[in-house]
Amino acid sequence: MQIDIQILSAEASWKHQHEIYKNYHKRYATIYSADKFFYHPYLLEKLSVANLQNDDLQEIATYFKTNIYNREKLEQAQTTILTKGIPFLRQKNELLKQLPIKHPDKLTISLSGAMSGGFYNTDQNTITISPQCITPQFLPLLLTHEFTHICIEEHIQQKHLSHLAKERIVSRICSEILGFDDHNSVGDKTLDKFLTKENMLNDFLSVLSRIKKYGETKQIIENKTFTHATKQKNRRKGG
Ligand SMILES: [Zn+2]
Repeated sequence: MQIDIQILSAEASWKHQHEIYKNYHKRYATIYSADKFFYHPYLLEKLSVANLQNDDLQEIATYFKTNIYNREKLEQAQTTILTKGIPFLRQKNELLKQLPIKHPDKLTISLSGAMSGGFYNTDQNTITISPQCITPQFLPLLLTHEFTHICIEEHIQQKHLSHLAKERIVSRICSEILGFDDHNSVGDKTLDKFLTKENMLNDFLSVLSRIKKYGETKQIIENKTFTHATKQKNRRKGG
């Protein structure tokens, strides 16, 4: 696998931070609290607010580029990625090859000055991480977590699995197949009964099918409970 690393400029890093801001309020605000997305007190305060106007965004952009973006930190992280992150990733990738999933032959690692963890893009096989808010020890783990996302994403999409299911599947691959804890507390832990090492190595794709079925059943039960609770409430209201 060919791996390229790039360091994002202050401008590109702000663009990345702004994208995260928009995505957070569009898709993730119901799943994650803002402090799980913006690891900087100034950004947390400002970017917790949805629908900011251009003037506010301009002010935040200027502060970001002058006070938060730190090229030196990104260069240090690049060294950590080269000496520790990539060797760790390559070693874990050999284990990932046991699963019938995508195995990219090209990967780009983008180091961003944003203060928001890790992201992946399956179109270009790109991982974008924010080393300024991650310890050097955690960098190789986060890198491998994001890489695992890229490898399984098409199967997740095919089966329309939920975000919480997806996160748990990645975490269990990390712990059961790759042998490390990715410190990811999101994810549906009730799926662990399907996500054993034996099951995953035996027939990974049928594990995903079982999770899909389980999710659908759970949804039906939740909907029934909800309808029942609503009916009860209405009945009470009606006297
Ligand atoms: Zn994840």
